[in-house]
Amino acid sequence: MKLQQPGDASTMPVPYITAYSGETDPSPLVFTKNHLGALRLAYEHQRDDDRRLGVLRARAGQSREGRPVWGSPNARRQWDCMEKLLCQVCGCPATDDRSGKVPWLVTDDVFRRTGIDYGQTATPPTCLDCMPLALSLCPHLRDAPAVYMVGKATPVSVQAHVYTPAGDGYAAFTGEHNVELPLSGSDLLSYAVAHRLVVSMSEITPIWRVQ
Ligand SMILES: [Zn+2]
Repeated sequence: MKLQQPGDASTMPVPYITAYSGETDPSPLVFTKNHLGALRLAYEHQRDDDRRLGVLRARAGQSREGRPVWGSPNARRQWDCMEKLLCQVCGCPATDDRSGKVPWLVTDDVFRRTGIDYGQTATPPTCLDCMPLALSLCPHLRDAPAVYMVGKATPVSVQAHVYTPAGDGYAAFTGEHNVELPLSGSDLLSYAVAHRLVVSMSEITPIWRVQ
């Protein structure tokens, strides 16, 4: 969700997904070689949770220290919301108990329809309890928000920053940011660090058919 900052931001609730200025992780990126000698981007001091679904994920702190960075998701909380279907506003499971489906609030700029009842997005779900708050907090949503109930959501790609080997062994940013790369079959994935997970949604229906 993209929040726009009003006159008095101090009174606004901060969505679960929103990044804080104190959560930036400056860990250096390097290129390593696998057992076949192929280059692969990695953090200099690797951790088990750096890779998920075969992808190097951007590190991000979870302290919520500093000030909210409105409109910018914390990379790890975004990933968790997508994989675990958590509400981007409150961080709780978003699935509606009554229908067993997942409510999703999107606009045209963050939703790509791929079929009659299919679509893709990097914006996490919003639970029904948080839906009124989300709508009231996001002025841009008043234009043409769409609320879907989603049967299934499967990770399909990432939005990533692409790096190239630098002479000193470290990785240099190419300037290509938020490049969408499929989770399989992309040679660029070894040169990229993912900032957002994209899911493919199926069995989607407009919410007014459910209620
Ligand atoms: Zn919620």
